[in-house]
Amino acid sequence: MNTKALHKISYGLYIVTSGKEGRYNGQIANTAFQISSEPATIAISINKQNLTNEFIRDSKLFTVSVLDQETPLSLVGQFGFKSGREVDKFAGVNYQIGRSGVPYITGHTLAYLEAKVLQEIDAKTHTIFIGEVTGAEVMKEGLPMTYAYYQQVKRGSVPVTAPAYAPKQEKKAVIEDKYVCSICGYVYDPAVGDPENGIPPGTTFDKLPDEWTCPVCGVGKNMFEKDR
Ligand code: FE
Repeated sequence: MNTKALHKISYGLYIVTSGKEGRYNGQIANTAFQISSEPATIAISINKQNLTNEFIRDSKLFTVSVLDQETPLSLVGQFGFKSGREVDKFAGVNYQIGRSGVPYITGHTLAYLEAKVLQEIDAKTHTIFIGEVTGAEVMKEGLPMTYAYYQQVKRGSVPVTAPAYAPKQEKKAVIEDKYVCSICGYVYDPAVGDPENGIPPGTTFDKLPDEWTCPVCGVGKNMFEKDR
């Protein structure tokens, strides 16, 4: 079996949110898709370890915010690499509370869909939630972020609990001046720099300011290792 076949499946990038008893949580998800149109139903796949899974199981509500291509790595990091058990993921994030009582992300969101859970399917590490869409709005026009664009163009990374996470299986050719975040897997490529944080292309890793931090998960330079 060649598991690389799985990498040929295309995905988007979303923030899935839920809430219970006035507490909110959300996470990055690459899996969200429409199942039917009458009634409109959608499905998501959420790791059982994640707090969002617990919130959805309890409240039977979830909302999918569709991210645009300009979404900064920091927003993905906020919802992808931090746990709602430790931090308030909504701190400093633009959001509003939808009619279902669950927040949706504003600013980098093209559209959002509010859903009420019809069925939960146990899929070993993950739960597939099927929901009937109870509310939906288009926020603005633009290109949705695809998972491929996030990885290839924005050099982003995903947490190990994501469905599409692929552990590195083979060593790549040696490229001496790229550095990898040991926490989240973000790759600092000097040819690209970190323009979102004012680092122009052509800046080598050792020329990054001491206070520079991983644009995805926020750790310092000392947590980076040379890519091999
Ligand atoms: Fe990182």
